[in-house]
Amino acid sequence: MDISHLIDGLNDKQREAVAAPSQNMLVLAGAGSGKTRVLVHRIAWLTQVEGYSPASILAVTFTNKAAAEMRSRVEQLSEGRTFGMWLGTFHSLAHRLLRAHARDAKLPDDFQILDSEDQYRLIRRILRAMNIDEKQWPAKQFQWYINARKDEGQRPGDIGVSDNPNEQKHIEVYRAYQESCDRAGLVDFAELLLRAYELWKFNPALLAHYQQRFRYILVDEFQDTNTIQYAWLRLLQCPSNHMMIVGDDDQSIYGWRGAKIENIQDFGSNADDVVTIRLEQNYRSSANILKASNHLIEHNQGRLGKSLWTDDKDGEAISVYAAFNDVDEARFVVARVQQAVEQGLSLSDCAILYRNNAQSRVLEEALMQERVAYKIYGGQRFFERLEIKHALSYMRLISNSSDDASFERVVNTPTRGIGQRTIDIMRQVAREQQISMWQAGIKAAELGLLNARAAGAVARFRDLIAQLAEQTQHYDLHEQCDHVIKGSGLLAMFQAEKGEKGQARVENLEELVTAAQQFIAPEETEGMTPLIAFLSHAALEAGDNQAEADESAVQLMTLHSAKGLEFPVVFMVGVEEGMFPSQQSSEESGRLEEERRLCYVGMTRAMQKLYICHAESRRLYGKEVFHSRSRFIRELPSECLEEIRLTTSVSQPLTSDSRFSSIRESQAFGDTGFALGQRVQHPKFGFGVVLNYEGSGQQSRVQVQFEEAGSKWLVTAYARLESA
Ligand code: ATP
Ligand code: MG
Repeated sequence: MDISHLIDGLNDKQREAVAAPSQNMLVLAGAGSGKTRVLVHRIAWLTQVEGYSPASILAVTFTNKAAAEMRSRVEQLSEGRTFGMWLGTFHSLAHRLLRAHARDAKLPDDFQILDSEDQYRLIRRILRAMNIDEKQWPAKQFQWYINARKDEGQRPGDIGVSDNPNEQKHIEVYRAYQESCDRAGLVDFAELLLRAYELWKFNPALLAHYQQRFRYILVDEFQDTNTIQYAWLRLLQCPSNHMMIVGDDDQSIYGWRGAKIENIQDFGSNADDVVTIRLEQNYRSSANILKASNHLIEHNQGRLGKSLWTDDKDGEAISVYAAFNDVDEARFVVARVQQAVEQGLSLSDCAILYRNNAQSRVLEEALMQERVAYKIYGGQRFFERLEIKHALSYMRLISNSSDDASFERVVNTPTRGIGQRTIDIMRQVAREQQISMWQAGIKAAELGLLNARAAGAVARFRDLIAQLAEQTQHYDLHEQCDHVIKGSGLLAMFQAEKGEKGQARVENLEELVTAAQQFIAPEETEGMTPLIAFLSHAALEAGDNQAEADESAVQLMTLHSAKGLEFPVVFMVGVEEGMFPSQQSSEESGRLEEERRLCYVGMTRAMQKLYICHAESRRLYGKEVFHSRSRFIRELPSECLEEIRLTTSVSQPLTSDSRFSSIRESQAFGDTGFALGQRVQHPKFGFGVVLNYEGSGQQSRVQVQFEEAGSKWLVTAYARLESA
């Protein structure tokens, strides 16, 4: 049999791992060293050379995308002989197991999976049934608590009774929630893992069966496994089977979700025959990118320690762009994407990575303006996000109370005691009488169709909308927006949520205020109020410019979702103190180190070219904030970097080269003849600084922050602006 294709294209260390005898192995190696590649080749080696049947192999990875890629690569190498192999994410494998043994797992055969939105709604119903006031005890907090306990493998009975009334309440809700899931045959995501664990733990015969069956277990991205996932794997381990664990402690980025780096050390110390293999050659990134990433991660303490080298050439320097503001940053990125395409790369070779979801908004607008197709990976486009749609619905109702879709979306968000039944009644009245939901609320109450409580709640909602409209009628658009997200209770609702998701939603709402502030009504909206113009802009953007499935598009994603992936050109944006690392994490060393690992993950996604951008000022929540460049940039070796700077108000020295490129760039940017940050003079408004610009030719306009007169948009052709 020809097995050369299984080891060709591997280095010695990789071959050693792929062709090792059956044994427990830990492949501990840095980014881009071929860990995933080794794991895939190892699977093919086991089945084709060692005689393992595909059905005796269990392989786990972190995301569905990674699992799909892994399966297709294994199939390629094994000429399709993968039948019976268990390959997937922890969740998908646990699900498969529970389907096969539903009764033993004490589940009905047709048990249903509860996604996170369903779970949230169920918890809310439970809170209502238990008479727990959601204002004081937000459902999200309970959801977070329940999932965290499950991730730790704890049932309510394991936690016992708490002296702390707050915790006791959480335990009680957890218990009631679980009883309700069990009655209805519902399994949430965390439950999949816990149930699968218990299935084996409490059924020794079944466990023994799987221990015999799965003779080889392989795990990619091991550094991000949490307690319950690791416990599940440990159950499966026995003297007659073996494991290959692949990971990189420097890329552990899910500590905030319960992942434990310690599992790596624990695995090494728990089985005595573990052979550790270190891969040290990086095949992904050019030498400069690699050197800088290595240098960065060395600032962390307590690492398991690895070295990584490449025989690739130095490649281009890492470009650090100090943008004037966030708009400038986005324009720079788009210009460089276009340049890459001119040089023969495709759009999908370029990835833009950011720390927080909300940062995508300014980038999306710049991409759209230049008609560059983009795809947001593992997330939604800004104007399609739930919290943004909620906020826009309030704004729509303010401008038009008969917008029924908006009415229904927010009438009970945040909860104000308007249940499904009340809404059904209003809907029916609206249909029969051909009136809007708004009017139907009044009508239904008049007709006595609503009980006093419901009628009162609906009336209060209408008052709220009327009040918001009245209070904000003379406000500027962004103040209006700000007032609405606060006055509606949306902001407080998401602030009360615990965890990363609630935080992201708050940031998105704040970003909406910024979007309103930066919004320039296009000409075709002349005659509309700014509010209406903005709402139509949002609606159009939500539906517009969707990249077709097979169309090449720039990839936008958070740093977290970029794990395991690689791209020829990578842009990391918003690399500023207060953004990345975030304010909170910069104050705690454990969290700071996790942020630094995240930065390492981001940088090591780049193959040929890495851009790191930061903005001197950006709009956050409608306010201009000033950020200094991130300590992570300062931690990079300067010989790997090249500074690009477009503004003239520079305090740092510039090489003559980069000054040249700065002049060229600023001319290439826009048609205004002015550069961002340039100091200008106007006969009437006096001195100011150019903040922003848009349009081209006769239509081009600049935004200037005047020292005395404040911020103004001026048509450059008529403005009589001069450089000062
Ligand atoms: P990460 O830590 O980011 O998950 P990784 O260690 O899993 O990275 P891979 O994704 O397996 O690394 O490999 C990185 C890149 O290097 C891939 O494009 C892969 O095909 C290539 N590669 C790996 N080993 C070799 C080799 N021996 N020769 C040539 N290319 C290789
Ligand atoms: Mg990998």
